[in-house]
Amino acid sequence: MTTTGHAHDSSQRFIFENADIRGELVRLNKTYIDTVHGKNYPEVVSRLLGEFLAASVLLSTTIKFDGRLVLQVRSKGQIALMMAECTSSGEVRGIARYEVVPTSTEFGELLRDGTLVITIDTRKGEPYQGVVTLEGNSLAECLHEYFRQSEQLGTQFYFASNRDGVAAMLLQQLPAQLHTDSEVREQHWDHYSTLARTLTDDELLDLTNAEILHRLYHQEELRLFAPHDLVFKCSCTRERTARALLVMGREEIDALVAERGGVEICCEFCGTEYNFGPGELDLLFEQTEDGQTH
Ligand SMILES: [Zn+2]
Repeated sequence: MTTTGHAHDSSQRFIFENADIRGELVRLNKTYIDTVHGKNYPEVVSRLLGEFLAASVLLSTTIKFDGRLVLQVRSKGQIALMMAECTSSGEVRGIARYEVVPTSTEFGELLRDGTLVITIDTRKGEPYQGVVTLEGNSLAECLHEYFRQSEQLGTQFYFASNRDGVAAMLLQQLPAQLHTDSEVREQHWDHYSTLARTLTDDELLDLTNAEILHRLYHQEELRLFAPHDLVFKCSCTRERTARALLVMGREEIDALVAERGGVEICCEFCGTEYNFGPGELDLLFEQTEDGQTH
């Protein structure tokens, strides 16, 4: 086990005192295990999904929002859909979908001809959506490309995973505050991001956040903020599942009832089963019909 010293799944921010650059360290062990539990994903899929989970957390730290951030890729490769969500309160969930069990270990083959979509669903107002064609041989490269196209600020992602979990780091330029000279800003970015690239996967996974930052930046002044807890939590409810049944329509539901005596829906994210008997379904559709007529 390599989880010693990492009591909680968390996200922790740091900033440099003498450069307009910030960072974030994310660690997911229990959250990762809970997400892949019972899904029978091949290891390559689980680990990639772990990166997606960590990425959704890192992305959620780059903006202020109240709601949820969804990172999703649809592809023509071996994995048709991969998605991960993180809410503003640190609740994380994710899934992978495929017809045939993936056999490749290549990112480009698993998510071939993919489109990456980042959606920020706030509790108020219209959702924001950013879309980019998947380019690169890793999630880190794709996200780097996404930021290169959408923002002028340098952004780098680093991921490392094993059977127990995933660890990730983000480094991002901040708008000019301390230094406005673009050459100085560029030098700083080169310096800090070059150091970050010297971190090995084992170090990212095994060291504590303080040890990682000491290992990379012991010559720099930086401030490490209090960590934010992360947990696996699914947002499914019986009410939401019932609404999905209404969308399916009366005919389809009646056919299922005739065939099986009721409707059983299993949440793809958490495995919770919701059972609806014929009486309950009648009531559900009658209530909606009432709602529509009055
Ligand atoms: Zn669920």
